[in-house]
Amino acid sequence: MSDCTHDCSTCGESCGERKEANVFEKKPLRPGCRVGKVYGVVSGKGGVGKSMVTSQLAVALRREGYRTAILDADITGPSIPKAFGIHGRAVAQGDAIVPVTTATGIQLMSVNLLLEHETDPVIWRGPVIGGVVQQFWTDVLWNCDYLFVDMPPGTGDVPLTAFQSLPIEGIVIVTSPQDLVKMIVKKAFNMAEMMKIPVLGIVENYSYVKCPDCGKELKVFGESHIDEIAEKLGVEVLGKMPIDPSLAELSDKGDFAKAENKYLTDAFEVLHQLDR
Ligand code: ADP
Repeated sequence: MSDCTHDCSTCGESCGERKEANVFEKKPLRPGCRVGKVYGVVSGKGGVGKSMVTSQLAVALRREGYRTAILDADITGPSIPKAFGIHGRAVAQGDAIVPVTTATGIQLMSVNLLLEHETDPVIWRGPVIGGVVQQFWTDVLWNCDYLFVDMPPGTGDVPLTAFQSLPIEGIVIVTSPQDLVKMIVKKAFNMAEMMKIPVLGIVENYSYVKCPDCGKELKVFGESHIDEIAEKLGVEVLGKMPIDPSLAELSDKGDFAKAENKYLTDAFEVLHQLDR
């Protein structure tokens, strides 16, 4: 097999000698590393603002003085480093990787910090991507109070591996107001339940846009169903974020550390309660 890596946990080739690695085992961190709490941010589909919510949680808790970190497990759509203005590459220390630290001290690991060019596509098969997610836990020298995992979207192979191989203590589901979302949120919720991971609550993104002239809230994606969905599932609504061009601009400029955190105060409260 020309593309065989000789390590079944990272090889995408199928052959008769393939030994399935136990990707479901939660492996320990490197000696000397420490991670306080691990929370995942998930969405049923891409583009709903999962990375935006992950970044806001990390920025807000960092501002309160906690050591925070982001593991960007969205391997095929990594956007975290760019939002923090990081374009360089992570460096190795022995056979481990040092996470890149942002200007305000948030530790980051993302596939974009390993690629030669950040525009290089990641055209790897599921088992390889799953192996990378796992290595972002075992081989990165984390030292933080909170690690937020920007999970791969959906409920497929890679999110499954991430759920099974990372010690996630709770998840935040991010969604948008469209009707279709009810079903998608339920899928994400059911997956977490099946994995026995508590759902901390749901964030609705793109809930409305505020007219800059009259201040009226326009529901561009239709009426919200989030309260109804949350009640049915027995979980909290952690925030309703409007389309806020200033957030998009900060992210595009790599200045996300300056983002105000006015929309997710209930989410921070839940995280604090879990610490008490
Ligand atoms: P996902 O991680 O779910 O794929 P992202 O967080 O990367 O989605 O968001 C997709 C795009 O939408 C990004 O460019 C992001 O900056 C922008 N975006 C997300 N949420 C908002 C918001 N509330 N207001 C303005 N722009 C947003």
